[in-house]
Amino acid sequence: MTRLFNDPDDFLDELTEGFVAASGRWVRAVPGGVVRSTRSPEPTVAIVIGGGSGHYPAFAGLVGPGLAHGAAMGNLFASPSTQRAYSVAKEADQGRGVLFSYGNYAGDVLNFDAAQDQLKAEGIDCRTVLVTDDIWSAPPDEFEKRRGIAGDLTVFKVAGAAAEEGASLDEVERLARHTNDRTRSFGVAFDGCTLPGKSEPLFTVPQGRMAVGLGIHGEPGIDETDVPTADELAELFVSRLLQEVPEGVEVSGARVVPILNGLGSVKYEELFVVYRSVDRLLRAAGVEVVDPEVGEFCTSFDMAGCSLTLLWLGNEPGGELERLWTAPADTPAFRRGSVSEREHVDSSATAAAQKTIPPASDESRHAATYIADLLARMAEAIDAQADELGRMDSVAGDGDHGIGMQRGSRAGARAARSAADAGAGAGTTLAEAGDAWSDQGGGTSGVIWGRILQTLGKTLGDEAPVNAAVVAAAVGEARDVVMGFGKAKVGDKTMVDAIVPFADDLSASVEAGRPLRVAWPQAAAVAEQAAQQTADMAAKLGRARSHGDKSIGTPDPGAVSFALICTTVAGELPPADGAG
Ligand code: ADP
Ligand code: MG
Repeated sequence: MTRLFNDPDDFLDELTEGFVAASGRWVRAVPGGVVRSTRSPEPTVAIVIGGGSGHYPAFAGLVGPGLAHGAAMGNLFASPSTQRAYSVAKEADQGRGVLFSYGNYAGDVLNFDAAQDQLKAEGIDCRTVLVTDDIWSAPPDEFEKRRGIAGDLTVFKVAGAAAEEGASLDEVERLARHTNDRTRSFGVAFDGCTLPGKSEPLFTVPQGRMAVGLGIHGEPGIDETDVPTADELAELFVSRLLQEVPEGVEVSGARVVPILNGLGSVKYEELFVVYRSVDRLLRAAGVEVVDPEVGEFCTSFDMAGCSLTLLWLGNEPGGELERLWTAPADTPAFRRGSVSEREHVDSSATAAAQKTIPPASDESRHAATYIADLLARMAEAIDAQADELGRMDSVAGDGDHGIGMQRGSRAGARAARSAADAGAGAGTTLAEAGDAWSDQGGGTSGVIWGRILQTLGKTLGDEAPVNAAVVAAAVGEARDVVMGFGKAKVGDKTMVDAIVPFADDLSASVEAGRPLRVAWPQAAAVAEQAAQQTADMAAKLGRARSHGDKSIGTPDPGAVSFALICTTVAGELPPADGAG
């Protein structure tokens, strides 16, 4: 239960404001998140971490000397947008390149990758190391598909310490990757979490039961047992993690850092009782315990649960990883040793750049007004279905599709209205709506809808009249962009299963000479049917992937919301072709 908040929509902004006010010693606010408020004596590689909010101290609490340089902050449990990741990285960059590191989730990957492309296009070297420590999210031979949980800390810490020592981007990247290869985590949950303003938890675990392998956004676990004793839980954690020893490490004599992480509402005292047995069991197995951590490092709002992470340093005392893990660090939530005094930088946040509206033809401006109306209707339609979309997403995903689409479509509608009111053409209006949608919506669907609207805008432009042929071509272009960017194919159970038949049907009808007011509603009906048919499929991509079979019987939420938007637009088309 989250008890203390004002307007739930303002939660991210307000928590950020309070966090920065309380942590000025380490951080300052920048658009999209926070960066250090101190300067390193010499320029270093910048470590930029991030993800959805709700996991404190991940991610903003880990920014400071010896650890990260910046954290991109998304909405609750939603990936930060591309713009946010880009903007934080730009602020954090010191001319020696940027390392992005974050937990492996589809929405984060899409957004950080897009930000990385943008940085590279500007000549800033940028690399990415994904954290994939959760052993239950994919089998060992698909290690790179696993999601990231509390093992984030080991990768961030080693990368941060290496950067602090002056290592090059190549070297920092290598060490971060090596640390991830040596990190394994195992999580359990006893109860779900409730986001601000929600009356129902995002997910639940039956009373007296424990979900094994459940993810930090409530992604379903792989098993359920009765709640064990503290000793039994330690035994389960340790015995399972000892079956997954990284290559090249000998258990006997191995030097290991255990991190026992509380997920939000498990007491430190309970964790210590569990840790007592973890420590004994590891030593009994012949492991050398090095510099352990017990506490909260990656939470999941008020979820009741905990995880054990093991970082396998190697068999030699004082090796590279050990030196970097134990190096000094000073951040709001993680402090170790003593870090040299730092000079503070001016903490006033950078002012947002003034946007200029490019010139547009009268026809295109007329279409823009119409597009702004359409976006407003779309947001209303999403509002009415938000709970149902969230429910579908909670079957095998993380339950946030409804709120993400709601936030995104509202922001898109607002941005489109203000662009159109300022005299923008159709292209600019759609582009502005896309930026706002991906920024506020977050998650996978946010970035994809952002790209859809931006692509439509690019194809429509600000000059040419908007007619059926142009619209069909723009929709086809958006389909190609989404598939190229998100890498989903038809049959993977994503939005693509609705986009492809929709775009194909629309272009065939328009080519056959049908006007948009006939062709669009017909294509929308095809999309609706295709979306419903995804119920028969098993998910292969995204957060739902690790629990693909659980989704059989429920349609893909992103495909359903796509079809809903197509149908909404169909009901708003003017009687004769002209605008959008
Ligand atoms: P998240 O997955 O980040 O929680 P949402 O819940 O808002 O984001 O959106 C989930 C939807 O995103 C899925 O139902 C699916 O339709 C869509 N999706 C996920 N991955 C892809 C992809 N690679 N390409 C196209 N659509 C995708
Ligand atoms: Mg989701």
